[in-house]
Amino acid sequence: MISAVWHGIEDLRIEERPMPTPAADEVVVKVHACGICGTDIHILEGKFPVYDPPRVIGHEYTGTVVAVGKAVTHLKEGDAVAVEPGLCCGKCFFCREAKENMCLNRFLHPGGMSEYTCVSDRLVHRLPEGVSLDVGALAEPLACCLRAVDMAQLPSGCNVLVLGGGAVGLLTASLAAHSGAVQVMVSEPLPHRRSVAKEMGFLTVDPKTEDLAGVVKARLGSHGPEVVFDCVGHPRLLEQAVELVQKRGTVQEVGVADPALSASISPYRLFEKELTIKASYMRPYTFARAVRWLTVLNLRPLLGVEFHLSQAKQAIHSLREGKGLKILVKP
Ligand SMILES: [Zn+2]
Ligand SMILES: [Zn+2]
Repeated sequence: MISAVWHGIEDLRIEERPMPTPAADEVVVKVHACGICGTDIHILEGKFPVYDPPRVIGHEYTGTVVAVGKAVTHLKEGDAVAVEPGLCCGKCFFCREAKENMCLNRFLHPGGMSEYTCVSDRLVHRLPEGVSLDVGALAEPLACCLRAVDMAQLPSGCNVLVLGGGAVGLLTASLAAHSGAVQVMVSEPLPHRRSVAKEMGFLTVDPKTEDLAGVVKARLGSHGPEVVFDCVGHPRLLEQAVELVQKRGTVQEVGVADPALSASISPYRLFEKELTIKASYMRPYTFARAVRWLTVLNLRPLLGVEFHLSQAKQAIHSLREGKGLKILVKP
């Protein structure tokens, strides 16, 4: 079988690998589609310290079960599934505290940019009827956004500002709109992303050419939104969020920041506004609910740009250039 294997900075190779055979508790999945995300850009650039080369990348994928191990009971051949990346150990300090996203011994199977994968059955979620394998590829990022929306505890009837209208921003906005927010505004400089945001029913603002604070006040009220999500992970946006959010509001960090950068925030401002700043990390216990949300949310507008597996590197470069929203790679 063919896989996209990361060998180091800017070195992604298409290689032939042996077909996997499942252990007793494993499942072999014939991959249908694998989404590309910002993390893949960081991996390709060598700025993601979580794993070493060589490694088959891709952590947002769907496919069809083609083989199951002897001990697997909840899946069978032919099932359409989404696969959760990363297995927590269940034994370390954090796992035993039910904080699986902080697991000290996380295990990552070879990823979904491959014709086939072989994973623990604990990570495989059957897609509900009516959810396509393309839309299913959004389950993983949606699960991360669901963690963020859970944490933000939106007061029913609130207004929400989402900074960044990439896939994470629009998934977060969609969940917020279904989780208590009355108005959701997406701030995004790229016109094609703003138009998708509009199509999905959100207010939009261009932070490059418009007065962001002015538009937010005009559309979401003079006191600002109760919750601001930073879906980019840029220090400047965190600083903006602290200014734009309503007094006693919540700023929720969702995007992955460059580890080398820092934000400048006045502790007095936090005190005076009695603000809460939270950050969400990965997707503890949210994947199954994210899969359920796929039956309700209209996420089709996020899709449309696709590459063949043999062009995985071009696909990652396209995302870096801001093309499309959720780019899919298909074997
Ligand atoms: Zn991702
Ligand atoms: Zn653990």
